Amino acid sequence: MPETPGTGGQPAERHETLDAEQRVPTEQDLDTLSRQLGRPVRDVVEIGARCVCGNPLVATTAPRLSSGIPFPTTFYLSHPVITAAVSRLEAAGLMAEMTERLESDEELAAAYRAAHEDYLAARDAIGARTGVGEVPEIAGVTAGGMPNRVKCLHVLVGHSLSAGPGANPLGDEALEGIAEWWTADRCYCEGAWATTGEAPNRDRSRHVKTQEQQDVEAKKHARAEARRRRAEDGSGGGEAE
Ligand SMILES: [Zn+2]
Repeated sequence: MPETPGTGGQPAERHETLDAEQRVPTEQDLDTLSRQLGRPVRDVVEIGARCVCGNPLVATTAPRLSSGIPFPTTFYLSHPVITAAVSRLEAAGLMAEMTERLESDEELAAAYRAAHEDYLAARDAIGARTGVGEVPEIAGVTAGGMPNRVKCLHVLVGHSLSAGPGANPLGDEALEGIAEWWTADRCYCEGAWATTGEAPNRDRSRHVKTQEQQDVEAKKHARAEARRRRAEDGSGGGEAE
């Protein structure tokens, strides 16, 4: 195998980004995502990152849901082992610590702003290649507190896993922080979600629901997102943006 330039210093276990073919979600992927999240998944247009075994780690969600609602959180961390590990970092107060460092470390702040730009560009590209198109309502808006704060480490880790090492410095840091519970070189899927019984996937197709049903669900989802954001605001210091 030819040597890839520039990878000499990278630890061997760091993940690679998926190619176009690997990003395409299969029926099995959607079934697995529904089991991982405990709800029918909707508007998943790609798989952002995969376990070494092939199972999804990140559900790449359309920047506009089929209900029409703009959706800024593109890289949705789905693997229960990783989400639980990241929640432990959040509970330990890492977000406030990172936000403080962003205020004093100019180099880190610049790299984090670059991550914000990378996220926007990636989302635009996903919108373009999946036929969703531009979503002006969320132009310049990302997630997780970017570009100036840290409000959700799951968002940053989802971005890091999808974009590869170096794209998001704080997502990369969080990944290092969970190494005790999850590393990219191993499969942690066994027993991580229920594989018996029917997956919560009856309604996941864009086509089996009426527009009205979809709207109700999207609103429910938006309310849950808003609640989550308020909760994050509470733990992130709460100052105005
Ligand atoms: Zn696995």
